Amino acid sequence: MTNKGKDHKKRSEKDKPSNREKSLSKSSQLMMDQRLWLKILVGMVFGVITGLALSPAGPIIEAKETAFAVGEWLSLPGTLFLGMIQMVIIPLIVCSIILGIAESGSMDFLKSMGSRLIPYFILTTIISITIGVTLVQIVRPGDMINQGMALEVLNSGAASDRLSGDTFEDLTIPQRIANIIPTNPARAQVERNMLQIVIASILVGIALITIPAGTGKPFKDLCVAGQVLSMKIISWAMVIAPYAVFGLLCNITIRIGLDALISLGFYAATVLTGLGCMMLVYLTIIALFTKKSPGEFMKGIREVQLLAFSTSSSAATMPFSIQAAEEKLGLRPEVSRFVVPLGATVNMDGTALYQAVAALFLCQVFGIDLSTPEIAILMLTTVGASIGTPATPGVGIVVLATILVGIGVPAQAIALIIGVDRILDMCRTTVNVTGDLAASTVMDRWLPEKKK
Ligand code: ASP
Repeated sequence: MTNKGKDHKKRSEKDKPSNREKSLSKSSQLMMDQRLWLKILVGMVFGVITGLALSPAGPIIEAKETAFAVGEWLSLPGTLFLGMIQMVIIPLIVCSIILGIAESGSMDFLKSMGSRLIPYFILTTIISITIGVTLVQIVRPGDMINQGMALEVLNSGAASDRLSGDTFEDLTIPQRIANIIPTNPARAQVERNMLQIVIASILVGIALITIPAGTGKPFKDLCVAGQVLSMKIISWAMVIAPYAVFGLLCNITIRIGLDALISLGFYAATVLTGLGCMMLVYLTIIALFTKKSPGEFMKGIREVQLLAFSTSSSAATMPFSIQAAEEKLGLRPEVSRFVVPLGATVNMDGTALYQAVAALFLCQVFGIDLSTPEIAILMLTTVGASIGTPATPGVGIVVLATILVGIGVPAQAIALIIGVDRILDMCRTTVNVTGDLAASTVMDRWLPEKKK
């Protein structure tokens, strides 16, 4: 074959979707075709209604123990759903970050990317937390909560299955910094220490760029297989997502009752308003710093947002975000494949806003007055906490428990806000994912083309 013929063959092979892309797009199509988000919303509404009917205060079951046992059975699909997503989230993140870096192909490109991306991530997280703190101080949703009811919910044990018992480790600042390198990667996985896992994956990805391509290829292929396999399992989990949401909400409503849910209305509205403001911030960033219009951007990522809303997991949505970034927004693969996996794990503006609002809300409920420097420390802690929050459903609230301990609120207090956590989780995950895609769009504009 002539050189020209070979070139042509190479190019058309490159244009053809790879098996990885085909498999990912099959999984995403499956989820979108089923109108999953709509089924999930229906599951939510029925979950609350059934929970109210089956709660000890309702007409059907009187004994508290029986009601709680029924709730536990009904939440079984939810527990299985969360378990399946959590099972594959670490391999998915590890493989995606390694591939993202390895495929970007050059150290210079990585350096110029890192020097822009890290400050961008930190800045947007600070903006997000500031919005949350300002709103919660103005609305003061904690003042609407009846103290007696708060104590009752606190003692209901609704949060006990979410609390692992570990709080902040007693480490000095140099120890904390040194701790980002996992001396024992297996332990990092067992403890689900996200920051350590991300750092280890980045190091492996960089190492792959620097060794001869042939030597690294088997390992890269393994990562591709790991990514596709993880997505397959997530798409299976999604089949039961509506039942999962139904059961989880039903169980929580049985445990905490209607009064507690209603009085959380102001708190939930504060978080949702904050998340809405953050969406406007992204659209402004897109309008100011990229060549795309906000409308074009939103249209391109609509389906991914619905998936994020349905799965409540930035990690589970990540491969589809990459796909949308490349196919709908037309971003360069070396940018999206690096920014999206990293952003999914460390850039969680929605989660940060939620954690700040929730922490201050609980301070208001328990009459804890924080001084301005204490609020500033809380904000800094929240930046770190949102970075360390794994991108899986419902974990933002677990990490919140560790923030609470630092400001003198009992970790069990998360029982008070757990009833509305599912819906807030869906919304904050949508914001998290939008943030990653906004970051990719901005980086695509800011970064020079890679040298061939
Ligand atoms: N579910 C969120 C995410 O995956 C994390 C959280 O619970 O806030 O982005």
